[in-house]
Amino acid sequence: MGIEGLANSPSDRKELSVNMELARQAAKRAYNPYSRFAVGCILVDELGNKYSGCNIESASYSVTLCAERVAGSQAIANGSRSWKTIYIVSPTRVGPCGVCRQFLYEFAPDLQVFLGDLESDAFLGPIPLRDLLPFADSLQLTALGEKRPNPPKEE
Ligand SMILES: [Zn+2]
Repeated sequence: MGIEGLANSPSDRKELSVNMELARQAAKRAYNPYSRFAVGCILVDELGNKYSGCNIESASYSVTLCAERVAGSQAIANGSRSWKTIYIVSPTRVGPCGVCRQFLYEFAPDLQVFLGDLESDAFLGPIPLRDLLPFADSLQLTALGEKRPNPPKEE
């Protein structure tokens, strides 16, 4: 990706640094006895409110919650549905999974995503969520029954 390390101004860099550190703190709260893979994130809404998330695993693997959905659920439960940016840190700067991309898109199709590292200041972003989830399902498409752009061709 040609977007590594982009932060436009000193205030952007300060905000990035602060939020990445908050995400690293969230990752320390991960409950991950099965994977040992800690993920933390900070979701920032349009008003500047911040919601943290960490992954929460379960012996029944499918019950596992990703950090992104934990943060989003906290935001929703606190009345926030207009999100601007998410900062996600992990050992490998992994992006949100497909489920989380769709979950985040429901409330914030214009969300900007930053992917950070647990052990260093390296990061990727901003990455538009729309680029991570092309042809996303949305309330407008579903409610209006509109055809999705460029539907797959039938053979
Ligand atoms: Zn996920």
